[in-house]
Amino acid sequence: RLENLTKVFTDKSGNQTRAVDQLTITIPSGKLVGLLGPSGCGKSTTLFMIAGLHPVTEGKIFFGEDDVTRLAPEKRGIGLVFQNYALYPHMTIRQNIMFPLENLNIKRQEAEKLVVEMAELVGIRDQLDKKPSQLSGGQQQRVAIARALVKKPRVLLLDEPLSNLDARLRLQTREEIKRIQRETGITTIFVTHDQEEAMSISDQMVVLNFGMQQQMDEPQVMYNKP
Ligand code: ADP
Ligand code: ADP
Repeated sequence: RLENLTKVFTDKSGNQTRAVDQLTITIPSGKLVGLLGPSGCGKSTTLFMIAGLHPVTEGKIFFGEDDVTRLAPEKRGIGLVFQNYALYPHMTIRQNIMFPLENLNIKRQEAEKLVVEMAELVGIRDQLDKKPSQLSGGQQQRVAIARALVKKPRVLLLDEPLSNLDARLRLQTREEIKRIQRETGITTIFVTHDQEEAMSISDQMVVLNFGMQQQMDEPQVMYNKP
């Protein structure tokens, strides 16, 4: 749950941008929620605050009963996936997925098992020894999702994950994300500026809009699948 979440950026000359203004939403546990809105309306900033990568200016973030507003990012149990995959190019797929498990006091054997489990979940079991550049964009995005899930986070945040893919891969990867979310039951927020994409993938949709946000306590929930 986000309560009155607000982010004001201040640049070196003191100019302020109110990127997120008094945002209050409840995201149902175990669902895939689309966060939709035009470019610049504060979607990424919202995700970054949920992840703990931007300190909040005002307001609170709850995971269930836990107030995580001031919690360090690594303690929040978040998996984050960006538009550009952000895989480590010099590492194999296996090493990429395993990376979050380093320094975690997990036995090598256990880590390897988790990596294979994740690779199977996202359907790239046969690609583990390749480098990212040898994979298609859609496959690279699956690797990014596997890496985001390997620590079994409480919340998965996807920031425009399909934007870099061509039309065919976009459809395919979208179905994959839906399937992975269903299989894991992980609470997922899917950020997009594409209404059709948001409607097709989400159980529920939250619409952010500069104008509306000023006037409404709760952003409009347009769409609510049973
Ligand atoms: P924060 O640590 O507050 O979450 P960042 O680390 O993203 O913010 O950026 C630090 C500061 O740099 C911001 O508070 C902002 O003033 C400035 N800044 C960063 N990116 C931009 C930008 N695109 N436009 C204007 N100012 C920026
Ligand atoms: P969206 O993800 O919906 O495109 P963003 O969250 O990226 O929107 O941006 C919301 C607003 O905040 C925009 O006006 C953007 O320019 C501004 N903004 C985003 N990040 C920073 C930053 N680090 N410093 C200053 N302004 C920022």
